[in-house]
Amino acid sequence: MREKRIIKQLAISLLCVMMSGLFFTMPVLAYFAAPDSEELVVGVPQNRCPLFYRDADTGELVGIGVDLIRSAAQEAGYTALIRPIEEETLKEALDDEAYDILLPFGSAITSASGKESIVSDNLMQTPFTLVTEGSRDRDLPPLNKLKVGMLHSLAAGAETVRGLYPGIEISLYDNMDKCVQALRKGEVDALLHNSYVWSYILQKPAYSDLTVQPQAMFSMDFRAGTLDTPKGRERIERLNEGIAAISDPFRQAVILDYTSRKLYRYDFSDYLRTYGLIIAFCILLLLLIAGIAIQRVHFIRKAHEQRLQQMMDHDPKTGLLSINGFRKRVEKLLREHPDLPYFLSYNNIRDFKFINDSLGRDAGDELLRFWARVSMENLSEEEAVGRVEGDHFATLRHIKGEETMRQDVQNVLTPVQNFFLNQGKPNRVQICSGIYVVSPEDFKQIDVDHMLDLARVAEKRIRDSRKGSYEFYNPEQWEKGKRIAEIINYLPAGIQSGDIQVWYQPQVNYETGEITGAEALCRWEHVKLGWLYPFDFIATLEEAGLIFDLDRFVWETVCKDLKRWNENGSKRTVSVNLSRDDIREDRDLPGYFQNLIRSYDLTPEQLHIEITETAYVEKQELLIETTERLRSMGFQVEMDDFGSGYSSLHMLKEVPVDRIKLDLHFLTASGDPEKSRTIVSCMVQMIRLLGMEMIAEGVETAEQADFLKSKGCSEMQGYYFYKPLPVQEFERVMGEGNIATSEKR
Ligand code: C2E
Ligand code: CA
Ligand code: CA
Repeated sequence: MREKRIIKQLAISLLCVMMSGLFFTMPVLAYFAAPDSEELVVGVPQNRCPLFYRDADTGELVGIGVDLIRSAAQEAGYTALIRPIEEETLKEALDDEAYDILLPFGSAITSASGKESIVSDNLMQTPFTLVTEGSRDRDLPPLNKLKVGMLHSLAAGAETVRGLYPGIEISLYDNMDKCVQALRKGEVDALLHNSYVWSYILQKPAYSDLTVQPQAMFSMDFRAGTLDTPKGRERIERLNEGIAAISDPFRQAVILDYTSRKLYRYDFSDYLRTYGLIIAFCILLLLLIAGIAIQRVHFIRKAHEQRLQQMMDHDPKTGLLSINGFRKRVEKLLREHPDLPYFLSYNNIRDFKFINDSLGRDAGDELLRFWARVSMENLSEEEAVGRVEGDHFATLRHIKGEETMRQDVQNVLTPVQNFFLNQGKPNRVQICSGIYVVSPEDFKQIDVDHMLDLARVAEKRIRDSRKGSYEFYNPEQWEKGKRIAEIINYLPAGIQSGDIQVWYQPQVNYETGEITGAEALCRWEHVKLGWLYPFDFIATLEEAGLIFDLDRFVWETVCKDLKRWNENGSKRTVSVNLSRDDIREDRDLPGYFQNLIRSYDLTPEQLHIEITETAYVEKQELLIETTERLRSMGFQVEMDDFGSGYSSLHMLKEVPVDRIKLDLHFLTASGDPEKSRTIVSCMVQMIRLLGMEMIAEGVETAEQADFLKSKGCSEMQGYYFYKPLPVQEFERVMGEGNIATSEKR
C-alpha cells in the first residue's frame, strides 16, 4: 500500500516536472519552429490620411496602405517595420538605404540620383479623382489637355499620370492649401489626388466649395518599390508572393474600415470657420455682460457717492442745505447769473439758548424747522438758504428793490417772531440779520466764505446794538444793487407804458443851412428814479443782457416815425445806435433790419446805423461782416465816437463804413486848445484824403463850427445847433425847416 502511494506521488511529481518543462520550453520551441521572420523596413508617407497617417491615440503609423503592406509582408514571412519617410519625395527616399521598401508607387520611377527602381505587384487599385471649384459634372477638357495641381510629395504619382496622359500639365505645390489657392486663382483647372485622401481632405470646412468630378475619375496602381538591386529584386519577389496571398474581401474590408472612420479632426481655423459666428456672438455677449457689470458697479458707486454727498450737503434736522451745500449752490448761482444783483444774509436768533432752556430743546428744534420751511417757501429757483450751524442761517437773495426786504419781513421774519406767541406762549423771537450785497468783483472771484464773514460782521453789529433787526455791511452797494434791480425790472413796463421815449437830435449842414438828418437817442421817465439818460441805464442793460430789448423798441419807434413822416410827404433820414452787444454770431442783425424797413415801407438809406468805434476793435471780424452785409442791403453804416478808441487810424483802413462820426468831445479833451485844434484839423484832413464822408458831433460853439467848416467838415451835430428833442418838438423844428442855433433859439 505504502509503495503504491510512493509510486503515485513520484508519478505526479514527474508529471509536474514534465508539465513545467513543457511550459518553459514551449515559446523557445515555438520561436525555433516559426518560419523565417525577417524584418522589412517599410518607408511610408505620414500625411496622407486615410492611406497613411498617425493614429491620434497611439501615435503609430496606420492606414489602408499600412494594413495592406503589413499583411502582404506577413504572408511573405516578413515582419514589417513601418517608418515615416523623412525625405520630401519618394524619388529622394529611394536613395535612402534606411528603407528596405517604400510605398506608394504607381509604377517604377528613377530615383533622385538617377537609379532605376522596381515595383511590386499591385496591392490595390486606387481611384484618383479630380476636384474643382463650383458645381458637379462640370465640362472639363479631356485629361490629356488639362492643367492639374498636385502635392509636391506626390511627384512620383505625377510622373505616372504624365505617363498615362501625355499632354496633361501638372503643377506641384507644397501643401493642400497652396493647391486650393492655385485652383481658386485659376492657375489650374482641377486638383488631382487619391479619392480616399480626398474623402478625408474635403471634410475641411474651408474647402466646402470644392466639388468632386466623378466623371473624370481614373484608377492607379498602389505598389511597393525599391531600387533595382539584387537584394531589392529578392525582396520584391518575396513580397509579390505575399501580395498574391491577400484576398480581395480582405482588401475591401480594410478600405471600408478606414474610409468609414471619422478621421478628420478640426483644427482651430476649422472651428473658427464653422462656429465663427457663434464664437463672435459669444464674445460679444461676454463683452456686453462685462460692460453691463462694470457699468452697474460704476452706477452703484456713483449712487453711493451721491448719497454721501447728499448727506454732506444737507442738514438732516431742517432739510435745508448744510454750509457745504450752501457754499456750492451759491457758487453755482453766482456763476450762472453774473448779471443779477444779489445779497447774502447771515441770520441768527437772539437768545436762542434762553428759548431752549425755558421751552425745551424740542420747542427750539420746532422753531428752527419752522424758520427753514418759511424761508424755503419765500425763495425762487435762483436763490438759496442753508443752515450754517445751530441757530445760524444763511440766505442768498436776488435783489428786486425795496420789495425784497418787505417780502422777507412779511413772509419770514414776522411769522418767526410770532411763532411762540401764536402758540400762546409769551416768547417773542428776535432775529438779527447781517446783509452783504454782492459786488461786481465778487462775481469775478467767488468766495462764499468771505462774503459770509462780512455778512456776519454786520450781524454782530446789529446784535450788539440791540436796535433793529438787520444791517448792511455795504449799504452803498445795496443802493447800487437796488438801482440796478429797478432798471432791469422796470424795463418791460417802461417800454410798454411809453416811459421810455425816443428823442431826436437834428444834424445840420453848416454850409447850406439845411437839416440833413437826426440821431435817435432814448430817454426814460422812470416811475421811481425820475428822468434817466442813456448813461444811467445803457451799461446796466448791457450787463444784464437786455440791451437788445431796448434797442429793438427804439429802432421800431424810429421806423414808425419815419413812416408817418413819409406819409406826410417828408422823407427823412435818422441815425440809430447799435450796442456792441446787439451784434452776435447767432443773431442775424442785417436780416432783422431788412424785415423792419419792409414792414414800415421804408427805403434802406433812410436808416443810418451807428456802430461805436470800440466795438470794431473788440469783435473785428464779425463787425466787418455785419457792416458789409448791411451796406449791401443799402443801409448807411457810420462809425460812431471816432477818436474815443485806441486804434482809430488802423480802423479807418480796415472797416468799410460810409461815414465817420468825429467825436469832438474826445478829440478836444486834451486840455490844450491849440493841440486840440491841430488834432481835429489833421483828422478832418486825413478822412477827406481817404475820400470818406464825415460828420462832427458834440459841436457846442460857433467857433468850433466855423473851424470845422474851414477845414472842410460841414456836417455837424451838437448843442450849438440843437439838443436832443422830444418827437413833437423835433417835428415842429422840422416844420420850420431852417437851422436854429442855440443862440438863435
Ligand atoms: P452817442 O451815440 O455818442 O450820442 C451822442 C450823445 O452826445 C448823446 O447823449 C447826446 O445827447 C450828446 N450830445 C449831443 N450833442 C452834444 C453836445 O454838443 N455836447 C455834449 N456834451 N453832448 C452832446 P445821450 O443821449 O446821453 O446818449 C449817450 C450815449 O448813449 C450815446 O452816445 C449812445 O452811445 C448811447 N445811446 C443813446 N441812445 C441809445 C439807444 O437807443 N441805444 C443804444 N444802444 N445806445 C444809445
Ligand atoms: Ca451815436
Ligand atoms: Ca457818438
